[in-house]
Amino acid sequence: MASGGGGGGVEEVSNKQVILKDYVSGFPKESDMYLNASGTIKLKVPEGSNAILVKNLYLSCDPYMRPRMRQPIPGNETYVQPFKPGSPITGYGVAKVLDSGHPNFKKGDLVWGLTGWEEYSLITTTERLFKINHTDVPLSYYTGLLGMPGMTAYAGFYEICSPKKGEHVFISAASGAVGQLVGQFAKLLGCYVVGSAGSKEKVDLLKNKFGFNEAFNYKEEPDLHAALKRYFPEGIDIYFENVGGKMLDAVLLNMRAHGRIAVCGMISQYNLEHPEGVHNLMTLVGKQVRMEGFMVFEYYHLYPKFLELVLPHIKEGKITYVEDVAEGLESAPAALIGLFTGRNVGKQVVVVARE
Ligand code: NAP
Repeated sequence: MASGGGGGGVEEVSNKQVILKDYVSGFPKESDMYLNASGTIKLKVPEGSNAILVKNLYLSCDPYMRPRMRQPIPGNETYVQPFKPGSPITGYGVAKVLDSGHPNFKKGDLVWGLTGWEEYSLITTTERLFKINHTDVPLSYYTGLLGMPGMTAYAGFYEICSPKKGEHVFISAASGAVGQLVGQFAKLLGCYVVGSAGSKEKVDLLKNKFGFNEAFNYKEEPDLHAALKRYFPEGIDIYFENVGGKMLDAVLLNMRAHGRIAVCGMISQYNLEHPEGVHNLMTLVGKQVRMEGFMVFEYYHLYPKFLELVLPHIKEGKITYVEDVAEGLESAPAALIGLFTGRNVGKQVVVVARE
């Protein structure tokens, strides 16, 4: 892979990258991105810089990347930075440090956090990088279970939902990166847990692998309100919201008094030019339901506490995790688009290189 020495004896290698062509409206396509195989990178941090140079191992496909493909609307505040057309896509990943100008990182360290969709990245913003200290679990878990989605499940469930033993919990997109873990946390606490997902295979996973009490395929339910009534005759205490749209409206009609809704995401709306309206919000008043949005990065200070809870559970087999692994950078665009058709079964990971 090395293509000879660069200036000053610094090795320069080829660096494949996944590039966003242009801003995308409507449903994104694989062809909105392309693989640039002609780039190169010097395997050394520039003199005097506090950046780190990494070799990317695993990349994470996450739904929030879709809003980042949109043309920014001037004056419109957004919680995500848009991608730059013509530049590599950026997102969460697991990487190995090859060179460092930063006192907190050294050559050989493994890290997870924000990196580029490319073989090697020069990372200048290191605030959102976490050092990986536990390597007796699969490294790819740091894109999912032990990374951003895992922290999302943890913060959303324990901090936002105020869960109590015996409560009735509903999770949408339940077999995904976040949902599968929320369900297992709820089961460990002694809740009654139901999940919705978009295929029979996913429904079987929820019931047989993750231990949900019940699960259903929302695509086969002509009346979501009736489906929820069937599984929650006494109502829902906690709804972990991942999808929005028609599901949210149906859930609102089935909430119990003093219920909580953690608004984690609304993936059904991400590709629409005009978001659907929500019709049943009045039920929040009479049922005194609390509905609260949250962003995972506000909770990263809890990461050590999260690891303390989760690592022993993984080792004892009390928490399990399903990944959908795509091989090679060239498979990354299709893997990302697949999130919006439900192609992924479990956490969508892309392998760039194995350790
Ligand atoms: P994921 O569930 O692993 O993948 C996305 C899944 O969403 C798909 O597999 C598909 O599953 C479902 N889906 C796609 N289009 C849909 C539609 N139109 N209607 C209903 N379901 C649809 O993704 P994830 O990483 O766990 O993310 C889940 C949610 O959490 C997303 O809304 C995401 O934006 C949000 N999130 C929020 C934060 C935060 O800080 N607030 C952090 C991370 C993630 P089915 O086959 O079951 O339809």
